[in-house]
Amino acid sequence: MGNMNSDVLTTLYKILTLEQERGWDNRAVMGGLDRLLQWWPTRARQEGWPETLIQRVETFLRTYPHLPPENRRDQTLTLWEAIRETFPHAPAWPEKHSQSQRTHTGSPDAKPADEPTPSPRRAHGSLTPPWISGGPRGLYAPVTALQEIGRRRSRMLSRLGVQSILDLLFLFPRRYDDYSQLKPIRQLRYGEEVTVLGVVKSVQVRDSRNGRLKRVEALVSDGTGTLQVTWFNQTWIAQKLREGQPIALAGRIDRYLGRLVLTNPEWEPLEEKYLHTNRIVPVYPLTGTLTQRWMRQLMGRVVPQWAPKVPDPLPSWIRERADLPPLSWVLQQMHYPDSWEDLKRARQRLALEEVFVLQVAMGLLRAQYQAQPARVFSVEEEWLEAQIARLPFTLTGAQRKALTHIRKDLASGRPMNRLLQGDVGSGKTVVAALAMAMVTHHGAQAAMMAPTSILAEQHHRTLRNLLAGPEGPLQPEDIALLIGATPTRERREILEALERGDIKVLVGTHALLEDPVRFRDLQLVVIDEQHRFGVRQRALLRRKGERPHLLVMTATPIPRSLALTIYGDLDLTVLDEMPPGRKPVETYLLYPRERERAYAFIRREIEKGHQAFIIYPFIERSEHEDFAHVPAIMEAYPVLAEEIFPDLRLGLLHGRMSPDEKEAVMARFRDGHYHILVATPVVEVGVDIPNATVMLIEGAERFGLAQLHQLRGRVGRGGQQAYCLLIPSTDVAVEAERLQALTRIHDGFRLAELDLQQRGPGEFLGTRQAGFATRLRFADLLNVSLIEQARALAQELLEQDPQLAGSESQALARYFEHILTSGEGEIS
Ligand code: ADP
Ligand code: MG
Repeated sequence: MGNMNSDVLTTLYKILTLEQERGWDNRAVMGGLDRLLQWWPTRARQEGWPETLIQRVETFLRTYPHLPPENRRDQTLTLWEAIRETFPHAPAWPEKHSQSQRTHTGSPDAKPADEPTPSPRRAHGSLTPPWISGGPRGLYAPVTALQEIGRRRSRMLSRLGVQSILDLLFLFPRRYDDYSQLKPIRQLRYGEEVTVLGVVKSVQVRDSRNGRLKRVEALVSDGTGTLQVTWFNQTWIAQKLREGQPIALAGRIDRYLGRLVLTNPEWEPLEEKYLHTNRIVPVYPLTGTLTQRWMRQLMGRVVPQWAPKVPDPLPSWIRERADLPPLSWVLQQMHYPDSWEDLKRARQRLALEEVFVLQVAMGLLRAQYQAQPARVFSVEEEWLEAQIARLPFTLTGAQRKALTHIRKDLASGRPMNRLLQGDVGSGKTVVAALAMAMVTHHGAQAAMMAPTSILAEQHHRTLRNLLAGPEGPLQPEDIALLIGATPTRERREILEALERGDIKVLVGTHALLEDPVRFRDLQLVVIDEQHRFGVRQRALLRRKGERPHLLVMTATPIPRSLALTIYGDLDLTVLDEMPPGRKPVETYLLYPRERERAYAFIRREIEKGHQAFIIYPFIERSEHEDFAHVPAIMEAYPVLAEEIFPDLRLGLLHGRMSPDEKEAVMARFRDGHYHILVATPVVEVGVDIPNATVMLIEGAERFGLAQLHQLRGRVGRGGQQAYCLLIPSTDVAVEAERLQALTRIHDGFRLAELDLQQRGPGEFLGTRQAGFATRLRFADLLNVSLIEQARALAQELLEQDPQLAGSESQALARYFEHILTSGEGEIS
C-alpha cells in the first residue's frame, strides 16, 4: 500500500483498525477522530477520490465521536465496505472482527455462543430457519458442491453463517440499490441513481495527480448525449471494454469539474442478464476477499435453480388464509426483487412466519400443559371479600382484577400458568398472598421463591402481616422461611413440619429447590422477580408438587406485543394501576460538572433523616477499556467515603461480594445503619427501603431505560417525595433524547417500549430470557398487528390440526417435536 503519509486510504485504514484494537475509544487520533476532518478530505480530493465517497467519510468522522462505543464498530465496518466497493484492492477488514458483518437487514445481533443449536442436524450459526426441513438432499449439501465455490470461499461463507446450499438461499442482502430507473443520458440529473445503456466510445487508463491511483476513463454515448465514466484502481476494466461495445452502467450521478459523471458504477456488457444493473440490485454482506460482483453472480445462478426446491414450512391453507406468498417466490424476491412492493411482501411473509412458528410452539406447550388436570380450589365470594377487608389498605382495581383471574384459574381444574406483571411498587405481593390463602384455605401448601435472602425475609414478614394477623386465615407458625443461612436445627424442624403438612406456606430462596425439601401437598408455586431465575429452576420447584398451580411475577414491564410473543405459553395479568398516593420519583439529568450539586442535595436529604443510594455501572474501570471515562465503584467509593462524606456512614455493595456479604450490607442499610449505600445495579431487586429518598446514578447512559426505571423504583417507597439524579459520563449523553425521557415519563410500560425500540429484544431482556426473541431476523416485536395476525393464524392451525398430523404440517411437526423434547421447549 506504499507510504502511508501520502495515501489517504492507508491512513484511514490504519486509524480505523487501531480504533478496533483500542476498543473503539475514539483515541486512535489525538483529540478524537473528528480531527481528521481538518486535512483528510482535502487530501482525498487531491488524490481524486469520488466526491460521494469523500462526503461519506466526512459524515462518518463527524458523527463517530458522538456514537456510543458499541455502535462505532458497525458504522466503521459499513464504511469500510463502502470503501471497498469503490476500491476493491483496499485491504479487507482484519479477520478478528469480521464476524460482526453477519448482521443482516433488520436483524438483531448474532446469537450468544452458549445457546443451544436450534436443530441437531444443523451446524452452529447456520442461517436457515430451523423449522425448514425436507426437500431434495442437494439443498443440504455443503456449498462446495457448487462449481463456483472451493475450500477458501466456503470458509469465508461459513463466517457469514453459510454451510449448505440452503443456507446460501437465506443469506439475504444487507440492502438494495435501485438501478431500475433507465434514463437517456441527456436527461440525467446530479445525485440520481440510474441505469444507463450506451455504447463505449473510448477507454483510457490514466494516472492520478500523485501517480498513486490509476483510473480507467471511458466515454459512453447513447445517442442523446455522452457521459464520462471513471473507475478508480480497477485497471482490469480497461481490458474488458472495447470501443463500440454495448454496455449497461448503474450508479449515482456525480459532478466533476462542472460535468455530470459516473464514478465507479456497476457495469456489465449488454448481453448478460441484468444482474448488476437495470433493476433493484442486492448488496450482500461480505467477508474476506468476497466481492459484491461475485456474490451477485453466484446468487443470480443459484437462487433461481434452488429456491423452487425449498419446501414451504407453512401449510398452503394457512398461506391462503393470510394471503402469504410461497417461500420459493419469497426467496427469489429477497435476492432479486422485481419491485420494492414485492420485496416488502417477501419480508412480511418471513416476519410473519417467524412469529407464527413461535406462537405455535407456545400454543403446543400450553396445550400440553392444559391437557393435565389440576386440583380445584374454589373459594366463596364472601370469604375472599372478608380477606380483602382485613388488609391494611384498599386494593386497587388492577389488584382486584388480578385476583379475579387467579380465582378463576384455581377453580378451573387445569393448572394455572399465569404471569403477573406490574411496575415496581404496584403491589404484586399482596395478590400473591391472597392466592396462597385460597390454596391453604383448602389445606394444601404454597411456596414462594425469591432471588435473594433479604427479599425472601421481606416477603416472609409481609406474608405474616397480611395472612397471620388477628383473625387472619393462618397462624404465624404456618408460614416459614427457608434460606441458605437458616441454622441446621431450625432447618430440620422446618423440613419435618413441611413434610407433615404443618407448614402451609414456605418462603425462601434457591434453598427451596434442594432435595430434602419435600412438601406434603404443594399446590401453588409463586415465583417472584422471575427474570432472575432460569426456566430450569422454575421447573424444579414445580416438580415438588403434583401439577401445582403456577404464578410468576415480574416487575419488568414488557410491552404487550413482546409479552404475547415470548410469554405466549403463560396467561398474562398486568397490574396497570399504582396504589393511590404514590408520587412519581422526581428525576433530574445533570452534567458531570454538576456533581457537587448532587452531593449537596444528598446531604440535605440525609440531614432530614433520609437515606440515599449512589449507583455505578461498573466495578472497576480496567475491565471496560472502552468506557474509561465512566466512573467505577472501586475508584469512587474511597473518594466518597473519605473526601465527600467523611462524616457519614457508607456501605459498599457490588457483584463480586459473596451473597452473604451482600445480604449483610443490604440488611444494615435497611436497618438504617448506613446513610448511603454505594452500589452497582445488584441492588435492583425488589427490596423495600422506605426511608431512602434519593438515588444518584453515575454513568447513567450505560443503562437501559427500563433498568433505570427499576432502579429509581427503589426509592420513595415510604410515601415521601423521592428523587433520582442521573449523571451520565459525557455531556453528549446529557443532551441526548434517550435519558431525557426519564425525566418526563414515569410509566414503566412506556419506558420499556422506548427501551425495546432502542436496544432490541436481546439487550432488553438479557439473553437468558430472550432466547427465542433474539433469533428473530425479520419480525419487529413492537409491531402489534403482525404479532396478532401471527397469533390468530397459530390458533387457527392448532384448532384445525392440534396434533400437526396434516401432510403439510410435517416440517413444523418435526421442528416442534425436537424443541419440545430437547428441553428447549421451556421457552419463557
Ligand atoms: P411490587 O409490585 O413492586 O412487588 P409490593 O408488593 O412490594 O410491590 O408493594 C409495594 C408497597 O405498596 C408495599 O409497601 C405494599 O404494602 C404497598 N401496597 C400494595 N398494595 C397497596 C394498595 N392497594 N394500597 C396501598 N398500598 C399498597
Ligand atoms: Mg416485589
